[in-house]
Amino acid sequence: MASPTPAIELQQVHKRFAGGLLALQDVSLRVARGEFVALLGPSGCGKSTVLRLVAGLDAASGGQLQAPALQPGGDGTTAFVFQQPTLMPWASAFDNVWLPLRLQGVPRSTAAPRVRQVLAGVGLAEFEHAYPAELSGGMQMRASIARALVTQPQLLLMDEPFAALDDITRRKLNTDLLQWWQGQPGDAISALFVTHSVTEAVFLSQRVLVMSARPGRIVAEVAVPEPYPRTQAFRLTPTFADACRALGQALELAHAPLPSTAASPA
Ligand code: ADP
Ligand code: MG
Repeated sequence: MASPTPAIELQQVHKRFAGGLLALQDVSLRVARGEFVALLGPSGCGKSTVLRLVAGLDAASGGQLQAPALQPGGDGTTAFVFQQPTLMPWASAFDNVWLPLRLQGVPRSTAAPRVRQVLAGVGLAEFEHAYPAELSGGMQMRASIARALVTQPQLLLMDEPFAALDDITRRKLNTDLLQWWQGQPGDAISALFVTHSVTEAVFLSQRVLVMSARPGRIVAEVAVPEPYPRTQAFRLTPTFADACRALGQALELAHAPLPSTAASPA
C-alpha cells in the first residue's frame, strides 16, 4: 500500500525551457517513504530535469510536485549527488564532508565525530587528510556520497553518480550504496536514483521507472521483487535476469520510432 505521505510525488509535471524546448510532458511519479526507485532512460530524455525539479533547483512549468522533506519547516533534508564528484579541490576529504554541516553553522570540532563516522562508513577512514586530486575516481565519489550523507538526509537524489566509473568500481559502489541505505534506521532514506544502466537500476531499486525520449514521460514501470539486503549473488539469479529483460523490452518500446515517423514497410 502506498504510504499516505510520499517522499516525492509528481503529477502531470511539464517543463518547458526558456528557449521553448519541451523537456518533460505529463510526468507523474511517486516515491514512497523509505523506497528506492530508479529512473531509467537514454541521454537527453529529461532525467536530470526531473531530479532538479524535485530538488527545487529549477521550477516546473506546470503540474504538481510535492517533496515534503523540501518544504520550509519540512521533516528532513535532501541530498543531491551529481555524476561528477563536485568536491572542492583545495579542501581535504574531511573538509569537503564537513561543508554541509559548516553551512549549517556546526563548528569543526563539533562536526568531527559525525564527519569521521561517515567517512569510515564509505571506506575512507584513512583518507580524511587527502585532497581530491590524491583520490581515485571511485574514492572521490565515495567522498561525495559521504558529504551527502553527513546531514542525515531523508531524501537522496542521485544523478548517474557512478556513470564515469569503471564497471568493477561501479558494482562495488552499488553494493556499498545499498548497505549505507539499509544501515539507516527505519525507513529513513527515500532514494530516487537516475541511471541509464539497466543492470544498475535492477540491482539497486525496488521499482524502475522508464522514461521515453524527449519530451520525457514515464512510459513503463518494472518492479524488482527481490528483498534487501542484496549482494553480488543477486546478479546471477533468475529474478535479476527477468527484471533486466523486462526493462530492456520496455526501453526498446519507449524508444521505438513513432508509427508516423517509422519507415514504410517495403
Ligand atoms: P538527461 O538527464 O536525461 O540526459 P536532461 O534532463 O539533462 O536529460 O535534459 C533534457 C533535455 O532538456 C535535453 O534535450 C537538454 O538539452 C534540455 N535541457 C536541459 N537543461 C536545459 C536548459 N537549462 N535550457 C534548455 N534546455 C535544457
Ligand atoms: Mg542527466
